[in-house]
Amino acid sequence: MTTTKGTKEWAKSNFNISIGCENDCKYCYAKAMAHRYGRVQRPFWKHMRNKTYAQIVLQIKRLPKPLELNLQNPNNIENPELLDIMFPSSHDITEENLERACYALSKLLEKGYTVLIVTKPRLEVIAELLYRFQRFKSAILFRFTMTSGDDQALQYWETNASLSRERMICLYLAYKAGFSTSVSIEPFLEDYTLIEHIKKIQKYVTQDIWVGPMNFTHVPKEYIQELNQAEYYTKENLIRIKQEIDALGFDNIKYKDHFLNKINGGSK
Ligand code: SF4
Repeated sequence: MTTTKGTKEWAKSNFNISIGCENDCKYCYAKAMAHRYGRVQRPFWKHMRNKTYAQIVLQIKRLPKPLELNLQNPNNIENPELLDIMFPSSHDITEENLERACYALSKLLEKGYTVLIVTKPRLEVIAELLYRFQRFKSAILFRFTMTSGDDQALQYWETNASLSRERMICLYLAYKAGFSTSVSIEPFLEDYTLIEHIKKIQKYVTQDIWVGPMNFTHVPKEYIQELNQAEYYTKENLIRIKQEIDALGFDNIKYKDHFLNKINGGSK
């Protein structure tokens, strides 16, 4: 049996300040879990509910101290590249929760945590973060989710998120401002722009580019059938796509463990 680490592949702990996410991606794992466990019904996921400032403070108080995070999981000590906190992991940072996000980030950074900011970046949000957190540059890694160079694919799967050009501008700005940058192409939504997309991104990435396929286990069947995606992410296609990416010769490409599991395992 193969296991996947999910967000633990990227950070020691997660931090969130909202429930629901206005991007409303069709493949959203957090939405599927919220629906399954009766926390939020699918149609209401796009209406974000933000935690109060008092709740955020309490949540930070309950976090293990930065050094204690290593004791929670042996994997944390073995992997010095892991940052302390991934923020956010089950919603995005949008204009709606930006002030609270800045508040939470300030508190976390002042307490000495390193923070991986994962977002489908919006210009207004990124401009604000770059401006406010310049002095914490060394403790922040931006990981922008850039799943396709094709806006039609983005609009279909990531309904209300930013489009390709806006995400690229955000990446460029973060890079130019001297922050560490990284990109997640997970799930990559198609492969006809993928290689060119990676080449464009590469210029402005100081760390890793992560690539992963879509995990269908929590995607409603009608979406998968409509675009015939189940056939698209076959083991054979993934092997071919990996060969094409490897042929670029970039040494900062990392494959998510479920990508490698699917290639190395027997499942088609
Ligand atoms: S941005 Fe992330 S949390 Fe928000 S809907 Fe999309 S997949 Fe879900």
